[in-house]
Amino acid sequence: METFKIGNPVTASARTILLVDMNAYFASVEQQCNPALRGKPVAVCGEGRTVIVTASYEARAFGVKTGMTLPEARQICPGLIPVQGDLDKYIETSLRIHKILLNYTDMVEVFSIDECFMDVTATQHLFGGALNIAREIKAEIKKEFGLLCSVGIGPNRVVSKIAGKMHKPDGLTVLNKENIPKIFKNMPVEKLQGVGIGPRVAEKLYFIGIKTAAELGEAPVQLLKSHFGILGRIYKAIGMGLDDTPVAKYGDEKPVKSVGHSHTLAADTADINVIYSYLLMLCEKTGFRLRGYGLTARTAALYVRFSDFTGFSQRKTFKHYFDSGEEIFKCAKEIFSSLLPLKKEVRLLGISTGNLSAAAGQSFLFEKDERKRKVTSAVDEINTKHGDFTVKPALLITAEKFGILERCGIISTRIWKK
Ligand SMILES: [Mg+2]
Repeated sequence: METFKIGNPVTASARTILLVDMNAYFASVEQQCNPALRGKPVAVCGEGRTVIVTASYEARAFGVKTGMTLPEARQICPGLIPVQGDLDKYIETSLRIHKILLNYTDMVEVFSIDECFMDVTATQHLFGGALNIAREIKAEIKKEFGLLCSVGIGPNRVVSKIAGKMHKPDGLTVLNKENIPKIFKNMPVEKLQGVGIGPRVAEKLYFIGIKTAAELGEAPVQLLKSHFGILGRIYKAIGMGLDDTPVAKYGDEKPVKSVGHSHTLAADTADINVIYSYLLMLCEKTGFRLRGYGLTARTAALYVRFSDFTGFSQRKTFKHYFDSGEEIFKCAKEIFSSLLPLKKEVRLLGISTGNLSAAAGQSFLFEKDERKRKVTSAVDEINTKHGDFTVKPALLITAEKFGILERCGIISTRIWKK
């Protein structure tokens, strides 16, 4: 990793804002979950499986870009490996990355699934300065997830965002107000996208003869106001590298109320073995997610949709809390047994857990439970580091024989045959 330090150290009186931007995020997460994809050109595709959402750096080297269709991308990169995106997985990883950032300040604003602003003005002295915080965050994210990010440091959101975008992947860039004139001189206005200048605005600016960020900063405010109204003044400030938008505090989002998973079966079935295998997958996934959030649940709900699109749902609340796939599966089976013998084929299964409580402070009375928890957390650790379901309970192995893991998206890195 290289540190690009363009400016003088940030003075104590100024605000210090960090932008943490994950590099090729979705593709990198997939490469970490499935070691076979590492070092290879990977394209994460959307639901339709034809449009590329994110390409790995290996694929980008061939010119593969976001928004390309798979056939287009394959023409320039014949070895391209398409993987269907798994948003749940990226959200979960993001939440865990946020935990790392929150060690340095609670002023962490989630800007997008792979970008966060941090205001470290008040806390940087505790950690040896903003640059040191950035270095530590980069190292921790790399160590824990094997993922790279670029960090930009600046006196406000606009400047830190520009700094963060300057060096990818694995960049660390410090920019100060004094650096702005030089950098903005040759920067096309469309590069200010993501800091408040949208593509339409950039187009209009071009039309009125403003082509660079510096020109925007120098433009008469009256001219900008006549074209953009009240926003004209804001655009001018952006062109000058000025911005006083605060960074919001983390946790303004609604708390997690329920955690669960659902899946449409590859084919409708009334085969109870197949159904239970799917259920187990969903329960394991749900348990993994609960533990990831540091939560335990007391309510389990099962949702079943049949081949004729009629539905069944039932919830059950238990006296004890649970967070393991095994326990959730036990509850799910108990609920499902009321449907037996099955009269219709099953099309979709869903598991949800509620009545959530923070796992910390729970007392686990029996040594056996404590041991079980230790095993579970060790399994989570291994799965996090080496890929989903590297370590799996014996029943999962049966499920694998059905080919269910793959169909269920548990091994969500599906490599399609041409
Ligand atoms: Mg990014």
